[in-house]
Amino acid sequence: MEKINPARRYGLIGFPVRHSFSAAMHNAAFASYEINARYELFEVSPERLDSFLRGLKNENICGINVTIPHKENSLRCLDKKSAEVEEIGAVNTIRVNTDGTLKGFNTDYAGFTRHIEELGIKAKKAALIGAGGAAKAVSLALAKKGTDEIAVYDIDKEKSLALSRRIKNIKPDCHVYNVDSIGGLKIEEKNILVNASPIGMKENDSCLVEESALRLDLFVYDLIYNPAKTKLLQLAQSKGLKNSNGLMMLLYQGMLSFEHWTRQGAPKEIMHKALLKELKKCSG
Ligand code: NAP
Repeated sequence: MEKINPARRYGLIGFPVRHSFSAAMHNAAFASYEINARYELFEVSPERLDSFLRGLKNENICGINVTIPHKENSLRCLDKKSAEVEEIGAVNTIRVNTDGTLKGFNTDYAGFTRHIEELGIKAKKAALIGAGGAAKAVSLALAKKGTDEIAVYDIDKEKSLALSRRIKNIKPDCHVYNVDSIGGLKIEEKNILVNASPIGMKENDSCLVEESALRLDLFVYDLIYNPAKTKLLQLAQSKGLKNSNGLMMLLYQGMLSFEHWTRQGAPKEIMHKALLKELKKCSG
């Protein structure tokens, strides 16, 4: 049978991207609406980022998601930014408009917010590991949901300083401060711990946190969804702590990306089912 080229291409850029479930989720959504489109994974190194994004205008690519490590560096290639992108300083969704302009959105922020609302998390004090693109969205979401103290640790101190400056400007009543080590986060005094670093994605990654830091009333949220249970989440679970991986955040941010691209409501159940199927495949 003759292969028909898809009319519209979408995809995810990152380095690496192999771990991602986004293609399964978006392709299931396209199929359910009989949209003639395909979502692909594009492994783009930092050196190729600008040329790849500038080239989108000439390809048949209508929309792109952006993941680690490109959420901040992609900003320089955008023609237009949503108010949230301006506020957060990171982009995870790009729409290639019909006139060829690239407009950036941040759906991580709304995706994380929706999930912590569903979980009923109202954290006064938070500890955050990582200060990259996702961490910026998470910290703003926490600050806007009433968290009044956020301790931030990143191996790159400049990044955590930039994050705290940004949040302080937007929410001056939220005390955001930087620490030099995981121990400095004083997790034992916090209500929520969020891992927004990539540590935990690889099988041989160590657990970021000492067992003694995990008190019973702490919620542990790991943005990583593959593996479903990082060593951090395994430890939290073994101690009986409430915890979550990033799968629902992935779903909610993906639904919003879909809506920015297609201007149609996203099929939640179909996208969720596709993610669960991927998870099952990965957990063997
Ligand atoms: P990113 O922009 O590269 O940020 C990650 C940050 O973590 C970087 O600043 C990195 O510093 C820092 N880091 C690396 N190792 C660390 C360590 N041992 N301790 C403290 N900080 C460390 O990446 P991102 O896009 O924000 O993504 C971060 C993670 O969140 C990834 O695992 C990603 O898959 C996940 N994520 C999940 C969702 C979801 O929907 N569930 C959404 C967004 C992101 P260097 O740059 O110096 O290495």
